[in-house]
Amino acid sequence: MFKKVLIANRGEVALRIIRACKELGIKTVAIYSEADVRSLYVKKADEAYLIPGDPLRAYLDYVRIVDLARQVGAQAIHPGYGFLAENADFARYCRRRGITFIGPTPEQIEMFGDKVKAKKTMESAGLPVVPGSDGPVSDLDEALDVAREIGFPVMLKAAFGGGGRGMRVVKDEEELKTAYESAFREAEAYFGKGDIFIEKYIDNPKHIEVQVLGDKYGNIIHLGERDCSIQRRHQKLIEIAPSPSLSKELRMRILGNAVKALMRVGYENAGTLEFLVDTRTGDYYFIEMNTRLQVEHTISETITGVDIVEMMIRIADGEPLPFLQSDITFRGYAIEFRVNAEDPKKGFAPSPGKITAYYSPGGPGVRIDAGVYKDYIIPPYYDSLIAKMTVWALTWEKAVARARRALDEFIVRGVPTNIPLYREMVRDPDFLRGDFGIRFLEEKISRGDYDFEVEGEIDKEDMVLAISAAISAHYGL
Ligand code: ADP
Repeated sequence: MFKKVLIANRGEVALRIIRACKELGIKTVAIYSEADVRSLYVKKADEAYLIPGDPLRAYLDYVRIVDLARQVGAQAIHPGYGFLAENADFARYCRRRGITFIGPTPEQIEMFGDKVKAKKTMESAGLPVVPGSDGPVSDLDEALDVAREIGFPVMLKAAFGGGGRGMRVVKDEEELKTAYESAFREAEAYFGKGDIFIEKYIDNPKHIEVQVLGDKYGNIIHLGERDCSIQRRHQKLIEIAPSPSLSKELRMRILGNAVKALMRVGYENAGTLEFLVDTRTGDYYFIEMNTRLQVEHTISETITGVDIVEMMIRIADGEPLPFLQSDITFRGYAIEFRVNAEDPKKGFAPSPGKITAYYSPGGPGVRIDAGVYKDYIIPPYYDSLIAKMTVWALTWEKAVARARRALDEFIVRGVPTNIPLYREMVRDPDFLRGDFGIRFLEEKISRGDYDFEVEGEIDKEDMVLAISAAISAHYGL
């Protein structure tokens, strides 16, 4: 087993990986930017190294990170999620420099990172995909031709995209003309490649994803599905395992076919296959595969008892999967709430700043993954996720009741968060029914169904301090 692992990430996920390493008796090495000097994970790692300079680039500078791993005697790097997690060049560079990348092979990352290629590969491996263009469209005229053929509304997507960027819902030809240009430019700015492909827009489906684990010897199992339909701006907020509204028959079909398809193409380490599902017709479509640990892995861990981060490390170290599919048992319901420093009253605008009071809930069935504390200043450069609350109970109703109780205990003051919105949601009979599509939350908010106050204001002084520290760092002042 590895003796030392470097974590190429920050925040709650860095802490999650440190915890898994500690339980395995592995020493941990953290890296941090100048904006993360006071982050909790930095204190919890056995060693921590500053990556000076631009706080945005610190976690992306893979040559420097791999060289550091070699210098400090780490044998492997865990990339967490975001940043370098799905960067095939990074995984390849690790391999070249004799460092184990804790994740799939660079070839697998590369293939699935191209959404067009991923769809084609999985379609030929037997999974249904959303009808759409055969590949990226080369210009507006081709985009119009494809859209007319499949019929409006359509969705524009960045072939190399993620995080909902470069994505547009388009309802007619007029809209397509402006949306194509802006999606292309956004994709080019964020992903370096403007390739856009087109899909039929599916009306209010469920987002269902399948967590898989594969070892180096061709064994692949699933850890059940997650229902991630509660979203804003096509980004997940609340995730549930198992889905409270999937029939047993449809669940078995999706899980079985997902594993079968992946067996055909081969996959090692942790991954997630994402699907859009129409529960009325039973149709389901593969949309993409994430070749990394997901934010919402906690709910699959909770209902199966499998430590996914531990499994990632063991698989990377060459161990075979220690269980068969039939050994995995599923128990109860788990719900994860992403606590973000963002203002749900202002279109979910990020709200970095200083946390003036912090108390996280506990008691039966409550798990907290967080990287913050009282007086911590949330930097403005990164994702707005500050904590994840995962609740578990034997039944769906009890899980929601537990969430209600735990959300009432949760205190985060100083910055606006989405906790007050969640408190309303878990009291909503429509939520309790458990039958929601991806438009559920946006429709509720636009109808004004939720009445809540956000606590805290964006503290301008803290922001000025954080920004000037970053500017100084950038110019080496
Ligand atoms: P990203 O990688 O940017 O997160 P995904 O392909 O995973 O993009 O899609 C994110 C979300 O966008 C989905 O969960 C769903 O809400 C919505 N979405 C994606 N494709 C479609 C589609 N063809 N029709 C309707 N909604 C879609």
